[in-house]
Amino acid sequence: MSIHKTHALVIKTFDFRETSLITTFYTQEHGKIQGLLKGIRTEPDKFASTLEPFSHNEIIFYKKRDTDLHLVSGCELRDNFSFLRNDMYKFGQASFMMELLGALSAIEDKNEAMFNLTIECLSLMDKNNVYDRIPTIYKIKALSLSGFKPHLNSCVSCNDKITSQSKFSNHLGGLLCPRCFKKDIHAGWIFRGTIATILYIEKNDLSADLRLGLNPQIKRELDGILNSFIEYHLEKKFKSQRVIPFLENTLEKV
Ligand SMILES: [Zn+2]
Repeated sequence: MSIHKTHALVIKTFDFRETSLITTFYTQEHGKIQGLLKGIRTEPDKFASTLEPFSHNEIIFYKKRDTDLHLVSGCELRDNFSFLRNDMYKFGQASFMMELLGALSAIEDKNEAMFNLTIECLSLMDKNNVYDRIPTIYKIKALSLSGFKPHLNSCVSCNDKITSQSKFSNHLGGLLCPRCFKKDIHAGWIFRGTIATILYIEKNDLSADLRLGLNPQIKRELDGILNSFIEYHLEKKFKSQRVIPFLENTLEKV
């Protein structure tokens, strides 16, 4: 058994017996881990955090070799992202980002770039009002960092360079050239601007990505393609994603 201290984001928590919690964290130094917080319900003062979803904490845990569930002995809140938490739309987007992070990550597979990207995006959404593009950028960069990114540099079927209009195949995970359209009858048209935007965001750093102009038509197509790609390949329906269109409609009417 070894003891570790690390920065950690809360992906989700659930009650364990009447006194304790099991929390899934995304940590800076160990990737996704599961921690048991014994007695947090009966002795809340033992832990200096209430472990809200997507809060940033510093935790101390004992790592055991024979199990994926580690004992968390200390937890201190670093940032609760309180502005983000008080805005329903931002809260929905941050919840989706954590669900995606959890689904993209294998247990104890360290990815510090992924941790840094997630903290940076949450902080920007917390402090900045120009946040509408951050979740879209996050999806593209998180897919790329986890190795799940769509194949966009050439045709996913024949590998030829794409020079004309192309379609996007969820099933095959990338673009199809006109000769290969028949490989997936469900593939849909995709704007060249959408492809160029994804490639630009993958390649550049977050500050350059935030300066990129995104017209509403491209952003809509981008979100539609990314969401169905993510759900198809991760074989998961995202709970938080279902409420976001409702929140968007509500906000447009305000
Ligand atoms: Zn082809």
